[in-house]
Amino acid sequence: MSKIDDIVSLCKRRGFIFQGSDVYGGMAGTWDFGPLGVLLKRNIMNIWWNYWVDQRDDMYGVDAAIIMNPRTWEASGHVATFADPLIECKECHGRFRADKLVEGATESITTDEFLAAKVKCPTCGKMNWDEIKKFNMMFQTHVGPVADDNSIAYLRPETAQGIFTNFKNVVDTIYPSLPFGIAQQGKAFRNEISPRDFILRDRECSQMEIEYFVKPGEWEEIFEKLRAEQHDFLENVIGLPAAMVHDFEVPAEDRAHYSKRTIDIMFDYPNGREELMGLAYRTDFDLSNIQKASGKSMEYRDKVTGESFVPHVIEPSIGVERLVMAVLSAAYREEDLEDGDKRTVLSLPETLAPYKFCVSPLLKNKPELVTKAKEVYALLKQKYTFVTWDDSGNIGKRYRKQDEIGTPKCVVVDFDSLENDDVTVRDRDTTEQIRVKISDL
Ligand SMILES: [Zn+2]
Repeated sequence: MSKIDDIVSLCKRRGFIFQGSDVYGGMAGTWDFGPLGVLLKRNIMNIWWNYWVDQRDDMYGVDAAIIMNPRTWEASGHVATFADPLIECKECHGRFRADKLVEGATESITTDEFLAAKVKCPTCGKMNWDEIKKFNMMFQTHVGPVADDNSIAYLRPETAQGIFTNFKNVVDTIYPSLPFGIAQQGKAFRNEISPRDFILRDRECSQMEIEYFVKPGEWEEIFEKLRAEQHDFLENVIGLPAAMVHDFEVPAEDRAHYSKRTIDIMFDYPNGREELMGLAYRTDFDLSNIQKASGKSMEYRDKVTGESFVPHVIEPSIGVERLVMAVLSAAYREEDLEDGDKRTVLSLPETLAPYKFCVSPLLKNKPELVTKAKEVYALLKQKYTFVTWDDSGNIGKRYRKQDEIGTPKCVVVDFDSLENDDVTVRDRDTTEQIRVKISDL
């Protein structure tokens, strides 16, 4: 098994992440977060919000609707260009992303280039291909009772447009001074031709995006500042090892249609280096297009100089699932123990761990131990909220389970606790055990 399979298996076994619609045989490209996964995901999202919004004076939050007026996606260019090259095998009718079958190809691959590469169908092994077609990745739906061309709407493919369309609302109600940012967390949907790599390429994902509005002449300097802050967040706040985080300057031909400069921040996942997040300079592309399409002014009036202009924007955008997977990959390890056994550990930073403490009585069938342990549990729960109780199996098994879900400290009440009012505190990473007075916990 590869490390990624081990992580997928642990996620399922311990209630972090399940296949979406598992009971009906699954739904490709969808994943459900279980009890432990929800805690981890929320910790990550809350820490992000705290770092980027709560602790700053230049950031404001919004929470926009997922279904937006379809003109949004015409103005943003998504209707015309948010598409992948789709190729179909004429023999077995298998459909694939053409650029993924040809080594080194980009999304702009042509049918001639594809045929020249002499690729065989991954399903049937034949070489009888149709023309490449552009496949738009937006999920379509209809709003209201009549399903015709006039009622077409889309599930948003990015949260960003919910920010841009509210730019004027925020400016007219909060009166922020440039530069300032608007942040949003929420679901986005992409009808991927072939979802894969566990939660890395799914059809429904959660995004955390910021649109940071700047004066046109100041973008370069602020771009570098935001880039440094992203690294601070990923490495010092989330705790990803800096050696696993890399900047990749995206060449012009691979950049999204709206971007003048993009840096992909990549992470060394178990299956290779992949994009973790993007930092893109989107110029005034979005606001200017909204201005054209809506007829409403998107200009910002400088309070000091009185000059009016459409601000430019820099966008740090991160997929929550990609960050969850990076955190899990960095934390996962297997250790050989002295007795020949193995233990699996999720060395999650304390701030991210689903539970901070696990409390248990040494023996489940001794009421006096259980009572004392319940007292300690209640005490810790008051202080830390995320405390779990475990009296299943023997103490060794409990330690293994808590190691696997990343609980930093296990607190065990034994017979000495009754005499001395102290407990054993066992550390997840070192497995060392120390005695601590209950009042000092
Ligand atoms: Zn085929």
